[in-house]
Amino acid sequence: MRDDFQERFARQISLPDIGEDGQRRLGRATVAVVGLGGLGSPVALYLAAAGVGTLVLIDGDRLEVSNLQRQVLYVADEVGQFKAECADRRLHALWPGLKTRVEPQPLAVDTASGSLAGVDVIVEATDRVAAKLMTARVAHQLGKPCVHGGIIGFEGQILTVQPGRTACYGCLWSGLENEPARTPRGPLGAVPGVIGSLQAAEAIKVILGIGRSLTDRLLICNLLTMDWRTVDVRQNAGCAICGTLHKI
Ligand SMILES: [Zn+2]
Repeated sequence: MRDDFQERFARQISLPDIGEDGQRRLGRATVAVVGLGGLGSPVALYLAAAGVGTLVLIDGDRLEVSNLQRQVLYVADEVGQFKAECADRRLHALWPGLKTRVEPQPLAVDTASGSLAGVDVIVEATDRVAAKLMTARVAHQLGKPCVHGGIIGFEGQILTVQPGRTACYGCLWSGLENEPARTPRGPLGAVPGVIGSLQAAEAIKVILGIGRSLTDRLLICNLLTMDWRTVDVRQNAGCAICGTLHKI
């Protein structure tokens, strides 16, 4: 097992920012992946492949044939099955040392705290604003770092949040939870592939405390034009989630 560990993670261990200590720290870490669709697929695959010890896999949907265009965790034979259970099988096949907690139901207000307590990092990979805001709220209440990703069409965005210290999802997008749902456009499958991969990298950096996170910076990238930019963002005192005005 030790040889397998050394051999399997040799490339990461060879990175000065990770090394054997960092690799062991990844092995002790628990990450919740909220949403196992287009974004959650590369998130879960890269975190498992990187040797993150425990993944909490949260998604209440069953696989549909139209998901296969972008949700690379799954194969055609699994249509109709719960994504969380399919993901569990696939990720164990990739990294047999992985521990998982499988929750084949959507994150809900009354159970979210229980689902997300005890994790080191939350990766929010849902496709609905209400779910994003709920995840952000629970992450803030529990004091957990959270990596948000969002996509539409050819465009993607990422924001990493250190609770109470940096701008949260609600600082940017509060009030949008009641927006009427629009018919989804796209995305091109490679867009969540890119954004989800970046979310996995952000989660690993947060676990290890290395590099510079996308905190107080929103990364926006357009794969049609290949324009990538970061926009500085700030905590909003009036934020419904983390704002100080609500506490006065
Ligand atoms: Zn906020």
